[in-house]
Amino acid sequence: MPSEHAHLSDTLWDVIVMGGGNAGVCAAISAAERDCNVLVVEAAPADMRGGNTRHTRNLRAMHDAPTDVLTDRYSFEEYWDDLMRVTKGVTNNDLAEVALRGSAGLTQWLGARGVRFQAALSGTLNLGRTNAFFLGGGRAMLNALCRHAESVGVKFIYEAHVDDVCITNGFCEAVTVSCQGHDLTLPCKQLVAAAGGFEANLDWLAEGWGAAAKNFLVRGTPYNKGKVLRALLDNGAMPVGALDQCHAVAIDARAPKYDGGIASRLDAVPFAVVLNKNAQRFYDEGEDFWPKRYAIWGRLVAGQPDQIAYAIIDSQGVNRFMPSVFTPIMDNTIKGLAQQLGLPPDATRSTIDAYNAACPAGEIDQSILDGQATNGLTPDKTNWATPINKPPFYGYPLRPGITFTYMGVAVNERAQVLMADGRPFANMFAAGEIMAGNILGQGYLAGIGMTIGGVFGRIAGEEAARVLNK
Ligand SMILES: Cc1cc2nc3c(=O)[nH]c(=O)nc-3n(C[C@H](O)[C@H](O)[C@H](O)COP(=O)(O)OP(=O)(O)OC[C@H]3O[C@@H](n4cnc5c(N)ncnc54)[C@H](O)[C@@H]3O)c2cc1C
Repeated sequence: MPSEHAHLSDTLWDVIVMGGGNAGVCAAISAAERDCNVLVVEAAPADMRGGNTRHTRNLRAMHDAPTDVLTDRYSFEEYWDDLMRVTKGVTNNDLAEVALRGSAGLTQWLGARGVRFQAALSGTLNLGRTNAFFLGGGRAMLNALCRHAESVGVKFIYEAHVDDVCITNGFCEAVTVSCQGHDLTLPCKQLVAAAGGFEANLDWLAEGWGAAAKNFLVRGTPYNKGKVLRALLDNGAMPVGALDQCHAVAIDARAPKYDGGIASRLDAVPFAVVLNKNAQRFYDEGEDFWPKRYAIWGRLVAGQPDQIAYAIIDSQGVNRFMPSVFTPIMDNTIKGLAQQLGLPPDATRSTIDAYNAACPAGEIDQSILDGQATNGLTPDKTNWATPINKPPFYGYPLRPGITFTYMGVAVNERAQVLMADGRPFANMFAAGEIMAGNILGQGYLAGIGMTIGGVFGRIAGEEAARVLNK
């Protein structure tokens, strides 16, 4: 065994952190700043580190007055109402309050550790008020955090997969890790689980989604396979959240199976008609502004035969949204387009004809919910309904793109992992996606993923150090 690996096994680490994304690195920094010797065990190679965090753009934070990176005011009460609306109340109120209140100091805490934010943005959704954007995106954010972590003594090992946790009487003594062909047992006093969800494990997803899961595209890292989550559950941790609850959006079906990130996003839906493989419409494409609705379309497409759908649009509609990375498929006739997409041509033609005939007269106004609705369709399109009749015609194939899963381990306000009987494990903490389901029982609020990871990562590191009297 190389001496470096022997050294890792010979050290009794104050804190081992499993997973080096936002949550894990925040935990590592918190503990190291309190004089703990900390090891981060990360499955990805160094150049692919950072998990789903690499793909992020922003975090959501409450503030009572404008800050250097957020405009206006976003009160605790407003944040709370937003969370209750999207989760429909399926949340742990105490933990939700910890996350929201903790968000108030998060941008300053990250900023003091090298993370840079963009000046506040304005736009249709006014996200500059609620969300702070990372300068250079999530990868730059994560790199800055890792640099700071190393400067306070945190040790990182890469291509190191945690296989199991060694627990006796509710106390974790070590973790077993396979690292570049070596099986290691790494002893620790405190353990932080921050290894993401199981969104990249299609077999596990199939337990909640059935065979449909094989057609999901995974928007983020291929490394979040849920191995650490499984180890905790197998060792008696209390599960939280439903197996099929997750964040999923409809993305271009030509995106790669893993790690396509935000580039595969498609904003065509409100100005298109969306057909399943039988050329039938299945949902109101114009229900609301796209940023408010795109998170339901992953689930909608997942519910269609073979988990595929097609957004069809004409030469006028195609200019109404941000151009996509993937070039649309184009044809001068609807039937020709259908053929190219693999849709039944006659059925496609009659669905589009029926839609066109149901559209009201007059121009649409995409800057508002214009109420230009079809009449007599099932389902109707309730805004921005205008005929698709100006060739050439364009089509985009759509698939469900899973962002992250919600089923995880139950924690308390100190980020301690709970056992099935509700008591906390003596020395195990969790932060980030692996426990986000405590707060996100369902639904999603843009930017809260990074907030949950940052807030509970900090708490986990602080608490781990506190137990050690550091
Ligand atoms: C395309 C995309 C865009 C997003 N945009 C945003 C956004 O703008 N704002 C927002 O708030 N949220 C966003 N999210 C969600 C956000 O990425 C997550 O909520 C957040 O990054 C989770 O942080 P984490 O540290 O828990 O997990 P991750 O960042 O995924 O880190 C988990 C780490 O654990 C490692 N790991 C997994 N298994 C093992 C193992 N067995 N052993 C060792 N290491 C392991 C992984 O390699 C990974 O590095 C986005 C997600 C995606 C996919």
